Amino acid sequence: MNFNGATNKVVLERYLKLQQPKDKVQCMYVWIDGSGEHLRAKSRTVDFVPKTPKELPIWNFDGSSTGQADGCNSDVYLYPVALYRDPFRLGDNKLVLCETYKYNKKPTETNHRMACNELMERVKDQKPWFGIEQEYTLLDQDQHPFGWPKNGFPGPQGPYYCGVGANRVYGRDIVEAHYRTCLYSGVNISGTNAEVMPAQWEFQVGPCEGIEMGDDLWMARFLIHRVAEEFGVVVSMDPKPMQGDWNGAGAHTNFSTLKMREENGLTEIEKAIDKLSRHHIRHIKAYDPNEGKDNERRLTGLHETSSIHDFSAGVANRGCSIRIPRGCAEERKGYLEDRRPSSNCDPYQVTGVMVKTCCLDE
Ligand code: ADP
Ligand code: MN
Ligand code: MN
Ligand code: MN
Ligand code: MN
Repeated sequence: MNFNGATNKVVLERYLKLQQPKDKVQCMYVWIDGSGEHLRAKSRTVDFVPKTPKELPIWNFDGSSTGQADGCNSDVYLYPVALYRDPFRLGDNKLVLCETYKYNKKPTETNHRMACNELMERVKDQKPWFGIEQEYTLLDQDQHPFGWPKNGFPGPQGPYYCGVGANRVYGRDIVEAHYRTCLYSGVNISGTNAEVMPAQWEFQVGPCEGIEMGDDLWMARFLIHRVAEEFGVVVSMDPKPMQGDWNGAGAHTNFSTLKMREENGLTEIEKAIDKLSRHHIRHIKAYDPNEGKDNERRLTGLHETSSIHDFSAGVANRGCSIRIPRGCAEERKGYLEDRRPSSNCDPYQVTGVMVKTCCLDE
């Protein structure tokens, strides 16, 4: 271990073995900061084992240090909304996903969960399912892709996707550790794979119904940042970390309703695609935290993407905005894949606008 700020984890083990009193439970509150993209966390002790987020106290933090408030009126509230087992502290300890509210009890600008939750409540009879494919890139602390030569580039793309071997993939330890932390904590992770650009990886979360999609994806992101931190590696959710002939990173969003999953659901899928075709710009604005600015660098029409300016749909076509998986077209039911969301998207915004367009016709 020779990265900046590295400490000896064997020494840490001694202290983590100290007996923890039964009536002292550590809760790490996790929230989305003012960037709408990055996560923050802080811990407190409670004297009971929480079973639901509602039992936990509302807390606060200094919003002037997270881009969420002015210094003269800096307290921002944390409302616990989802509980996960803590894979680092183990035992009864918890990770607590929170929503942020301003001094006047209104949601902060980057709290998109509140509105998403209201939308999901309105459409719950349609049983909306989502599965998000989170792509991300591992970087050294100097922001250079992890494992890449310091003066130059790896060989061109081709051998890396789902690759195996030390000359094909970089950072598998992190991927494996993250997968287990998700399973342990209760995040509905469904798989992982190495991506087309070396040092780029993907994990899938889902299918999740309603608000759980956003909750589990944000917690999965917290876990990948936290796990990589222990390895001295940085995780980037930037949609185009390397310019040139290197794939960008997205968050393909797979979506279905109960009707789409039933016999002849394909007609329902086609109806949804027609509705999506009429709201392309609204969706692009919701698919990254900067109203399309980030995704502009990625959705070029090259590297398995569609142009940010056009809407398109097709069976098994990875150059389209929307892809109907081959298997779904054959079975005439299933789900659609929206390939436009950026890797740094807010899944509450993405899933919210999806049900607004497809389920509510708004
Ligand atoms: P790709 O072939 O695009 O790489 P992946 O296997 O990476 O696809 O991801 C597919 C995602 O679709 C998974 O997250 C899975 O949970 C999700 N999914 C599967 N069935 C459905 C469904 N009926 N509705 C919504 N999402 C689904
Ligand atoms: Mn202080
Ligand atoms: Mn995938
Ligand atoms: Mn992928
Ligand atoms: Mn995909």
